[in-house]
Amino acid sequence: MTPVIAKYVWLGCVIAWWLIRFPYERRARKAKVAASHRDARELILLGISLAGLGIIPIIYVFTGFPAAANRSFVPLVAWLGIIPALGSLWLFWRTHRELGRNWSVSLEVRDKHELVTAGVYRYVRHPMYSAFFLWAIAQYLLLPNWVAGISGLIGFGILYSFRVGREEQLMLDAFGAQYRAYMAHTARIVPWIH
Ligand code: SAH
Repeated sequence: MTPVIAKYVWLGCVIAWWLIRFPYERRARKAKVAASHRDARELILLGISLAGLGIIPIIYVFTGFPAAANRSFVPLVAWLGIIPALGSLWLFWRTHRELGRNWSVSLEVRDKHELVTAGVYRYVRHPMYSAFFLWAIAQYLLLPNWVAGISGLIGFGILYSFRVGREEQLMLDAFGAQYRAYMAHTARIVPWIH
């Protein structure tokens, strides 16, 4: 493994991630929204997450900026990064399939929204966010640069911290006792860690 190969692995996984999401994004545009919470706060959080997981590492991969923040490249660390990268792609694929038309990039309840509690949703309430954290860990291990490596964890960490409580409130408003019962036997993002 070399730094250039590690960058290509990262880029290849970004493309794979997009290929997984794209069909759901197209379909989501057609599914009617019953209640939207896509406000300025949500857009700012999405922007911060996009910067950390996308814009900052893409600038680094294509230009090497900020070179002053480079850290030494350890091949084993980059190899280890492949494990969370593949794990997150698998989990992204499962969560998109299982959420189906109930998925949205922002906080929204669809017309005829169904609460999904099966598949990977049996173990955690936010497996797609678990996938994003795995992805951010892979970014840190694959890109030997302090800024581009850690920006994903910070960017997505901010989105997650400010969103997850609101999202659960939205689900409670929409599904009441059903969601409360679901909450009682599931963890948020790490199975069995409540
Ligand atoms: N937090 C979830 C979903 C992320 S997508 C995860 O990490 O897997 C965000 C949208 O999913 C929200 O707009 C919400 O309406 C919807 N959602 C969240 N949990 C859901 C569930 N268990 N069943 C159906 N829709 C859900």
